[in-house]
Amino acid sequence: MRYSEMFLPTGREVPSDAEVISHQLMIRAGMIRKLTSGLYSYLPLGYRVIRKLEQIIREEMNKAGAEEVHLPMVQPAELWQESGRWVHYGKELLRFHDRHDHEYCLGPTHEEVITSLVRNDIKTYRQLPRNLYQIQTKFRDEVRPRFGVMRCREFGMKDAYSFDVDEEGAEKSYEKMFAAYNNIFRRCGLKFRPVEADSGSIGGKYSHEFMVMAESGEDAMVFCEKCSYAANLEKAEVACPEKKRIFEDDWLPLEEINTPDSRTIEEVSAFLKVDPQDIVKTLIFNADGKPYAVLIRGDQEVNEIKVRNYLGAAELELATDEMIMKTTGAPRGFAGPVNIKIPVLLDYSVIDMVNFVTGANKEDYHLKNVNIGRDFNIQAFADFRVVSDQDKCPRCGGDMKFARGIEVGHVFKLGTKYSKAMKAVYLDKDGQEKIMIMGCYGIGIGRTVAAGIEQNYDENGIVWPMPLAPYQVIITPVNVNEKDVMAAAENLYLALKASGLEVIFDDRDERAGVKFKDADLIGIPLRIVVGRKNLEQGKVELKIRKTGENKLYPLQEIAQEIKQIVEQELNPDRL
Ligand code: ATP
Ligand code: MG
Repeated sequence: MRYSEMFLPTGREVPSDAEVISHQLMIRAGMIRKLTSGLYSYLPLGYRVIRKLEQIIREEMNKAGAEEVHLPMVQPAELWQESGRWVHYGKELLRFHDRHDHEYCLGPTHEEVITSLVRNDIKTYRQLPRNLYQIQTKFRDEVRPRFGVMRCREFGMKDAYSFDVDEEGAEKSYEKMFAAYNNIFRRCGLKFRPVEADSGSIGGKYSHEFMVMAESGEDAMVFCEKCSYAANLEKAEVACPEKKRIFEDDWLPLEEINTPDSRTIEEVSAFLKVDPQDIVKTLIFNADGKPYAVLIRGDQEVNEIKVRNYLGAAELELATDEMIMKTTGAPRGFAGPVNIKIPVLLDYSVIDMVNFVTGANKEDYHLKNVNIGRDFNIQAFADFRVVSDQDKCPRCGGDMKFARGIEVGHVFKLGTKYSKAMKAVYLDKDGQEKIMIMGCYGIGIGRTVAAGIEQNYDENGIVWPMPLAPYQVIITPVNVNEKDVMAAAENLYLALKASGLEVIFDDRDERAGVKFKDADLIGIPLRIVVGRKNLEQGKVELKIRKTGENKLYPLQEIAQEIKQIVEQELNPDRL
């Protein structure tokens, strides 16, 4: 396309809310514009990148046997009431009434709609398995939209849903999607990692997030340096420690000590002159209205998701001051397991401890020389903590590394959560009615594009990997007023376009420096500079955006050279 005819408003200005580099560069490169909080318009350059990604996704989804559908974005409340999510989804669900006073929502995801579609048309095992996907707009009324299109309110998502006759089939569908996702992100040229993710009560390995590695990412993950274990920090496990033998002879007499105003681990540690590792923290949680005490070593943190999953609770939060007072008889900061009347859950970190310090369930008092078994009993012993850098890999014992990433995709085994509630059933070989087993698989379209920029930029702008680049080549005539230069550039433009390449012809009457700056900013992988001096030698200059490499080529050979580079970068696996 001729630059002079493109709607491509580039600039230097960055809005004050653009905290991350991808947001800044997408604005500066004229890819997106904000309409209002969490709502963005894609301009032509931005939309081309979106279409590129969607094409890769379509090809890989189709290859994996999924079929494309298109479902309504407006969804009736009744379906959400059937699944139970009308109540549970909360404020992210935008609800409204039509002129007949019927209630609706804007789809934040499509489990309900797809399940209703499938249950009406699929009746027997012969029609299964099925995997249906769409690429469509979602609306989630995020509390704090931020980072541009990375966390906005209206965004594109590829969502797929699989339906199987049994667990084995469902696992196969999951594996297929897992493989397809690997192919998609690899083809995009991104550095990514699938990590085990929290799957709520379903548990097991049945949820993976695909993380694009980036320092600016909102998610923390750990991965093993020796084996393939990788997990979202929320999910990362701690292996069950081998229990050391505890000698009861070592137990010292229990002591109550006055610890005025010492509530936090730091305060108690300073006051009693003991290490945080010798103190046990007692946290009181409210799980669906019932109190539980979770005990953990003073220098560790509780992972609330693990506690919630262990208890199978729908909701879990730290107890209020009122609940703490009621269950421990003391204000916040003095809870302990001795003589407490609620279930005590013990984290792995506490199992080998002897003669430790805990709260005394009495204002301004702590206990010293507390011991498990003698002074209190436990209801459960499990992994309740956030993995720390001292922890080893739960699979192989290797060292673990921490990293940050952006969640661009999520594969999830749903089981019968929706099919049961919404009665998506089929008749099996013996004519028995059975519930379908489901999986769901999402990719954030805009977020993936933004994540691609987070990984591929330099001080001059975006550095697109070839598969996502809005155009592959930009031709820059140095001076548009020189006829022979313009003629050569124009001919080259027509020739490259005719050979199927995606080309911008920067025909603007601007200084070369301005044009080079724009080409760098919008991140076009290959730039051909046509200047009088080189042209007199029959040559043009090729500059590779990624490496900054510059090389002269004979005018006759440049098309072939470009074609080769593009082909190779689009299909790196073929080599
Ligand atoms: P997050 O934890 O980041 O809110 P999620 O778990 O709610 O994500 P899913 O429901 O699994 O996300 O949605 C599938 C994909 O949709 C995500 O992996 C992400 O790429 C994308 N996505 C989710 N929320 C947003 C958003 N607010 N803006 C842009 N993309 C989003
Ligand atoms: Mg979310």
